[in-house]
Amino acid sequence: MHMNNPVNVAVIVVAGGSGQRAAEQGDAAPKQYRHLCGEPVLAHSLSRFARMRDVDVILPVIGAGHEKWYRRTALENRKIQPPVIGGGSRQQSCFAGLEALNTLAPRFVLIHDAARPLVFQDTLERILAALQHHQGAIPVLPVTDTIKKSVDGCRIAQTVNRNHLWAAQTPQGFHYADILQAHRSAQEQTTALTDDSAVAEWAGLDVVLVAGDKRTQKITTAADFGRLAALLSNEAPMETRVGNGLDIHPFGNGDRVMLGGIPIPHDAGLQGHSDADAALHVLTDALLGALAEGDIGTHFPPSDQRWKGEPSTTFLSFAAGRVAARGGRIIHLDLTINCEAPRINPHVAAIRNNIARICSIQPERVSVKATTSEKMGFVGRREGLMTMATATIQLPVSTRDEDLSKKEQPDNV
Ligand code: MG
Repeated sequence: MHMNNPVNVAVIVVAGGSGQRAAEQGDAAPKQYRHLCGEPVLAHSLSRFARMRDVDVILPVIGAGHEKWYRRTALENRKIQPPVIGGGSRQQSCFAGLEALNTLAPRFVLIHDAARPLVFQDTLERILAALQHHQGAIPVLPVTDTIKKSVDGCRIAQTVNRNHLWAAQTPQGFHYADILQAHRSAQEQTTALTDDSAVAEWAGLDVVLVAGDKRTQKITTAADFGRLAALLSNEAPMETRVGNGLDIHPFGNGDRVMLGGIPIPHDAGLQGHSDADAALHVLTDALLGALAEGDIGTHFPPSDQRWKGEPSTTFLSFAAGRVAARGGRIIHLDLTINCEAPRINPHVAAIRNNIARICSIQPERVSVKATTSEKMGFVGRREGLMTMATATIQLPVSTRDEDLSKKEQPDNV
């Protein structure tokens, strides 16, 4: 866990349920591990929270025996903590998550249901704003259907005034110390409270309502998957961008070369900017190219003594951070290392994993290839080493672009 910085906002994503209602025949995975638009349901909310700047730490709480499914979901992201195993009920699972955050002692905690894959920055901001003045804040939607009360499920006993009714969503936000104390007391008293605000109400906390979001729907049945997939495809349109990079460094004195952040023993070293890691440099350039935000020298001038000997991890994680800051994501990185020696292949797996870690993406999205120059040219004469990279990213289409394309569209074609 990150002990250096005080944690302001922690998110607990409760994914403990066995959710068999949405499972199809023969598919044993609970609904939070079933795929929605190519990603497990749980991965959607985890990666959305990870992209929110206000969120410092994310803690998944999973069901006992669900580890094998979680491992397939596991996103490499520095904010996402190793999962905690939950209890037999939602309340028990939340409690396990809250206790696990005790050493971090966040100021605020947001508790979210994994079965609601679509969470939004706006909702988070409304909750955090309310928490400045209240002990708890939950997102709600007005109830639009007329509500009938029936005791036997057959005869109407009453029509309930819906003006006073609100449907509760998640994430539900609280001051961490207050909700932890409420859960601790509730442990001794009761275990049948269905959401955290019920625990908070039971403990007498001051919990207020904020506007929820219609799209933060809960997946309960198999039909919900189709509806949410349609919602996802209607989100802000993304465009795909491709950037490339080329880097060349000469060999010089030394007994190792740094490539992809991995030191590789060699009878020479690499000369150049920072630690001369031509693999991380070229990936940085490819990402900055896809963003059209200059190159590594623009952001980290080689003349600046600060970057002398700097681990090149700094540059690549900056470029990956720029993609995230613009609301985008890295789809794929493809790296080619061109040299006669040292032999790269034994290190490909380590390089791949390290690049994936730096960029907070899965190793499956990183390709590392090595080739020689058949003894031709400067690479063939072992004077230096060359790297090439292609970065494929997705960025939200800016509103300005949309306006332009609308204007250019001829009428009545
Ligand atoms: Mg370079």
